[in-house]
Amino acid sequence: MFRRVLINWSSGWKGSVILTSFHYKKVMARQLHARRIEGVDKNLWVEFTQLAAEYKVVNLGQGFPDFGPPSFVQEAFCNAISGGASMHQYTRAFGHPRLVKILAKFFGRIVGREIDPMEELLITVGAYQALFCTFQALVDEGDEVIIVEPFFDCYQPMVMMAGGTPVYIPLKPKKVTGPALSSADWVLCPEELASKFNSRTKAIVINTPNNPLGKVFQRKELQMIADLCIKHDVLCISDEVYEWLTYDGEHHVKIASLPGMWERTVTIGSAGKSFSATGWKVGWAMGAGHVLKHLRTVHQNSVYHCATAAQEAVAAGFQREYDVFGTEESYFRQLPALLHAKRLKLAKSLRSVGLQPVLPQGGYFMITDIASLRVDLNDPSTKDEPYDYRFVKWLIKEKGLATIPVSAFYSPEHREDFQNYVRFCFVKEDSTLEAAEDILRQWSIKK
Ligand code: PMP
Ligand code: GLN
Repeated sequence: MFRRVLINWSSGWKGSVILTSFHYKKVMARQLHARRIEGVDKNLWVEFTQLAAEYKVVNLGQGFPDFGPPSFVQEAFCNAISGGASMHQYTRAFGHPRLVKILAKFFGRIVGREIDPMEELLITVGAYQALFCTFQALVDEGDEVIIVEPFFDCYQPMVMMAGGTPVYIPLKPKKVTGPALSSADWVLCPEELASKFNSRTKAIVINTPNNPLGKVFQRKELQMIADLCIKHDVLCISDEVYEWLTYDGEHHVKIASLPGMWERTVTIGSAGKSFSATGWKVGWAMGAGHVLKHLRTVHQNSVYHCATAAQEAVAAGFQREYDVFGTEESYFRQLPALLHAKRLKLAKSLRSVGLQPVLPQGGYFMITDIASLRVDLNDPSTKDEPYDYRFVKWLIKEKGLATIPVSAFYSPEHREDFQNYVRFCFVKEDSTLEAAEDILRQWSIKK
């Protein structure tokens, strides 16, 4: 009939009151959480990195190098730390001046226009925060945002938290004879893409080179997207964190460099990916001043700015890369050369155990069909999960090898069609790739 309830008021008053069961129900029915976080409480990386940490695994799961950044940026970080008091204090909210100036110069040369370092660049806590500021600043309740599948998983919850509605368009394997074994075989259907644009469409999100597929969008494909953006007055959010990582003569094209696109594109980048320093969490958003000013509003009222010394070190790294751009000395040339060999090494290991990987044109991931590995997954705790989730958990627990389920990069509507793939990360020491191959070999011999 009566219930005692503990109260902890924001004024600091603590105590308890006795309520009738009618009032008790009313008080407790008031929900604690904001509605904007409903449906976004699960996170792939939290779940799978925790699982990989619990078991002793060879880790080809989460995308980070198991080697350090090049010595010139490590030294730059050390110099920044010992470079005087100002390196330990706040810097300019929207980006350390030295960093925005060199990024403007660096990317200005690539996109063939003068970039205003103060108006057209925003430095953020990793590419994640650049994406978050973009969605919060530009997407409103009721807006539709087109997302190309497979997509880096955070786009969906970020659109939803901004009140937008994600609309999905899948890259599909071309109808070629035999399986699609290069990421180049995965394409957008032009008619299907065009059908997704309407008066509610606010933006389209693309990711090139793509995570997890490794697709590098060709100029023609980007032009098709650009034409639709211009026709329907839609923004383009282009996640280019793997921009330096292309293989076999592929070339990364910035959609912002196509005619009429600078004004409507936010380009997202990451120093973590550029310099193999994912823990530094320095990223950026680049775009026209009339767009970027809205991202600054979100940034100044949330994070304000990111670590000064890390920005100083990234600035030194970009200054060096600016000076050696296009030469053998450039890390942006050395890293893809190193990864090209690792990518072939991983592909060979996977083929040696009968798997058929999709060879990526860029990025540092490779997906492979696992349908041929008929594993009896009898773990009752995972029985309601998609096949690839169950498989990856089994692989971690039983074989000590961590990978990532590919259906996590699809919308609920299309997830079922892609639950036979897992993603391997190859930005790893050769010894790590060899340890993974050993696990796969031993298993295939035993079968
Ligand atoms: N976009 C893509 C496609 C990614 O793979 C990642 C993961 N690194 C991010 C954005 C986030 O990058 P950052 O670590 O710089 O926040
Ligand atoms: N981007 C990285 C990946 O795809 C990891 C992101 C994360 O751990 N949150 O593996």
